Amino acid sequence: MKFGGTSVGDAKAIARVVEIVRGRLPQRPIVVVSAMAKVTDQLLQMARAAGAGDRRTALTLARECRERHYNTAGELLGTALFTQFHSDLGTEFEELEELLRGIAAVGELTPRTTDHVASYGEVLSSKLVTAAMSTHDIPAVLLDSRDCIVTDETFTRAAPLFDDTNAKLKELVAPLVEGGQVPVMGGFIGATRGGVTTTIGRGGSDFSAAIVGAGLSADKIEIWTDVDGMMTTDPNICPDAKRIKVISFDEAAELAYFGAKVLHPATVLPAIQKNIPVYILNSRNPACEGTRIAARAPHCKNFFKAIAAKKRITIIDIAAPRMLLAHGFLKAIFDAFDRHRIAVDVVSTSEVSVSLTVDSNEQIPALAADLAKLADVKYEGRKAIVCLVGENLREIPGISAHVFGQLSDVKIRMISQGASEINLTFVIDEDQVPAIVQRLHRRFFSDLDQAIFA
Ligand code: ADP
Ligand code: ASP
Ligand code: MG
Repeated sequence: MKFGGTSVGDAKAIARVVEIVRGRLPQRPIVVVSAMAKVTDQLLQMARAAGAGDRRTALTLARECRERHYNTAGELLGTALFTQFHSDLGTEFEELEELLRGIAAVGELTPRTTDHVASYGEVLSSKLVTAAMSTHDIPAVLLDSRDCIVTDETFTRAAPLFDDTNAKLKELVAPLVEGGQVPVMGGFIGATRGGVTTTIGRGGSDFSAAIVGAGLSADKIEIWTDVDGMMTTDPNICPDAKRIKVISFDEAAELAYFGAKVLHPATVLPAIQKNIPVYILNSRNPACEGTRIAARAPHCKNFFKAIAAKKRITIIDIAAPRMLLAHGFLKAIFDAFDRHRIAVDVVSTSEVSVSLTVDSNEQIPALAADLAKLADVKYEGRKAIVCLVGENLREIPGISAHVFGQLSDVKIRMISQGASEINLTFVIDEDQVPAIVQRLHRRFFSDLDQAIFA
């Protein structure tokens, strides 16, 4: 059972979590928690301030964070436990402040230190949730995720080393469950084989839960969040988005990858390998049955299941009039992406040019300089990928006409369809995302009872 930031965002939310876990006790749950809502952002802000030599800002933010955790603990725990817990939390905050002072003194922030600072969010929340469960008679035991989730050394987006991790999970977590206890772990964080703290990428607590669930062959993996399940699109963009009852692993992975933040894109991988169903559930509305993600979804009469959008995309255009068809040219291009360790999302080619999209990041100018040795390169940020997901899209005549017919006034920079059976993707200006998603959602989802391509 993984509880996200808003599900542990304040005392009331944590009290709800305690009751949800109580209801699952006969099923022998393991609990994975995120940092309290916004805390990871604040920790990263502290780290950046300290890295820029601004010690005062860093420590002021740390103090605010300390207050919030103390206040939440005060509300949740009785006086006796709070006194003990106060000093326990105090030790963590002293360490954090010490670390920030050190960063500020050196005036340099490395990815490794960034992870160390970021890890406090999950360390603190897991302590808080364990204490809250204990006061409410749940046999909770805190487990430091850095003792079980073993990763490589790619700080800020470390990859789990599954063999090591699974062995640790079996050694440290399984006996607790068998002994009738409820292990509580922080998501998002892990450690290298040498014990150095790492994080597995933003939003990674979902992935942590899947790693633990798969490692211990759980019956199911539950992702508890602040919406009723995976919806037909981001409910922040379309408040009338509808809940998807069942979706396949492939469809969910595609949506997660192209921006449906409700699920971290890596979450489904461990689940697929062990064929463990994943449920998305609402901690504010636990009676709702949520979304089940499983190997196969029943046939759906709507052609599209959902629309996702991913912002902060840069398009890189590479034009090489004489070179493109030359043997080995695309390889040379992709080698450059590989050297800079930048992943490509959407690709389109013509005879003389190739366009690719990447997540906007600071390495793009260096990559572009490298590519410029091969061809003419231009890049343009502030783009977004919009992705429609549904079954067998390749087989549906006129599917593109139905989508692009809605977008006759829109400048579409790239289109990709047919690479997978389930995805139709295009690239537009970032600021058009809400209007376009709303328009497509209205067209394809406003009346779900009516077959759209009848
Ligand atoms: P948590 O803190 O629980 O991990 P997140 O904020 O990471 O929660 O993810 C939940 C949010 O994902 C929702 O509040 C919603 O705004 C957003 N979201 C984006 N796309 C979708 C979608 N297709 N279905 C449901 N939620 C979505
Ligand atoms: N707390 C981490 C983040 O905000 C991980 C997570 O919430 O999944 O990115
Ligand atoms: Mg999340």
